[in-house]
Amino acid sequence: MKESYTLAELKNWDAKGKSPVRLGVFGDPVAHSLSPQMQNAALENVGLKERYGRFQIGAEELETGLELIRHLNFVGINLTLPHKTGALPLMTEVDEPARKSGAINTVLVEGEKLLGFNTDGPGFLHAIRTEFSVDLRDLRVLLLGAGGGAGRAIAMQCALENCERLVLVNRTLEKAQDLAKELAPYFAGSRVLGPVARLQAVPWDETSLRFQLANTDLVVNATSVGMKRSDPPLFPASLLAPHLMVYDTIYTPERTPLLAAAAGAGALGANGLSMLLHQGALSFEIWFGRKAPLDVMRAALL
Ligand code: NAP
Repeated sequence: MKESYTLAELKNWDAKGKSPVRLGVFGDPVAHSLSPQMQNAALENVGLKERYGRFQIGAEELETGLELIRHLNFVGINLTLPHKTGALPLMTEVDEPARKSGAINTVLVEGEKLLGFNTDGPGFLHAIRTEFSVDLRDLRVLLLGAGGGAGRAIAMQCALENCERLVLVNRTLEKAQDLAKELAPYFAGSRVLGPVARLQAVPWDETSLRFQLANTDLVVNATSVGMKRSDPPLFPASLLAPHLMVYDTIYTPERTPLLAAAAGAGALGANGLSMLLHQGALSFEIWFGRKAPLDVMRAALL
């Protein structure tokens, strides 16, 4: 199996004999993805012959890539950056939670149909429970990157869990404001929280974040900022405090700048590996209709 495949290679799939790769992840960039090692360990463990590959597919190649897997007897595909929202209109059907979150990360090929799902939100829910031994519904959450595919899925999960409070932050503020309007019905119930609103979209500036973080339990980074060494800090480290839990959906590097800042402030922190594990296990269950070998997948990631 190659490290990663291109669209050109997908166009010539099976030209040199039938490939066992019938699952994979489409992304750009995709080289960092740990999904293949996790999913291939699971496939081997349960005795399935299919294998899972990485596919370097750019945004403009997505439609052709999906069309190809539809006719190549693929079981399914995961979608990562930048495809999660763009793939939605390319599906034959989309399940209700994925439609509501406006993003998909899992495609099941069923005959000629492409069925879209989102396991990021439920994966995040399991991750928070295992990392911090708390339930999302009891938390005041501040979400950075609320306008992206992962951010929208996480926000929707917070809404479905009816978490105590949700603050949406995004570089492009309008996207966070639009999402807040969509989620408003989930936060209509009364909960006594003092002077702060239960659901808010706020500008990404120091003053606003300083105020919001004082009324937050869990900070989530769902942006791609922190993946590259040259990335600037998301916000000044001095805004972090020991009462916070910090979850960075990024898992490469293992210790992101945000997590280093959290440790420096005495706050609890965890990277996105646990979310990757749980969303991957749920994707496996969608593709094969059977329980995923979670321990095997966890061991493969570690
Ligand atoms: P996406 O749809 O492209 O969204 C990217 C998000 O990042 C948007 O909110 C975007 O804001 C924001 N952003 C990008 N560059 C920024 C910058 N320089 N400053 C501030 N905000 C910036 O990507 P995605 O698929 O949601 O992925 C986002 C992150 O989640 C990635 O790091 C990915 O690795 C991670 N993720 C992890 C898991 C896991 O299992 N651990 C699962 C899914 C995703 P605008 O709206 O303003 O463009």
